[in-house]
Amino acid sequence: MKTYFKNIWLGVYTVLLGMKITLVHLFAKNVTVQYPNKHPLEKASGDKMPPNARNRLFVDMELCNGCTNCARACPVNCITVETFKAVPGDAPPLKTGEKRGLWVPSFTIDFAKCCFCSLCTEPCPTEAIKMTTEFEYSVYDRQELKYQFAKMKPELIKEKKELYASYQAEKAKKDAEAKKAAEAKKAEEGKVEEGK
Ligand code: SF4
Ligand code: SF4
Repeated sequence: MKTYFKNIWLGVYTVLLGMKITLVHLFAKNVTVQYPNKHPLEKASGDKMPPNARNRLFVDMELCNGCTNCARACPVNCITVETFKAVPGDAPPLKTGEKRGLWVPSFTIDFAKCCFCSLCTEPCPTEAIKMTTEFEYSVYDRQELKYQFAKMKPELIKEKKELYASYQAEKAKKDAEAKKAAEAKKAEEGKVEEGK
């Protein structure tokens, strides 16, 4: 009999305890926001995205030398960098003043694949690739998540490729002439030696 009433009391007690917790939460201050109607980082709230937050990447092409370190570090292969050689002194220097030996006609990042690990930012020698505070970039077509950072126009790419090809041809011609002249000189010297 004692156990019977004890169980009834336990039942009533736990219900009252649960109701007390519910009431406390009913009148407690909200800790969630009605995103996107209210932005969690509204300036009025004084909140800011932490500086080390991992969001959308940005590539400063005036700092990128086309080394492809970032693409090789990416675990999901979402960075594609295309390069071709530049005629010495033809490509504009980097923002830092360093000489550039390569043109970068295409630099894409597919954010549909990116896992925001930030591994690509570590090996960049010029800090050209960085995380930004931008995290709201939803789109309806996933193809739009493929960002092209390079700004070279197709006509310029064609022109620079042709320029490098003619530079190479000219260089090969000069090398062949120099080699031929050296061989002729050597043969001449051999004849003089024989005549002595
Ligand atoms: S953050 Fe990670 S997954 Fe995204 S591009 Fe960089 S290395 Fe690749
Ligand atoms: S590691 Fe930096 S410099 Fe090299 S290709 Fe990537 S962004 Fe450009």
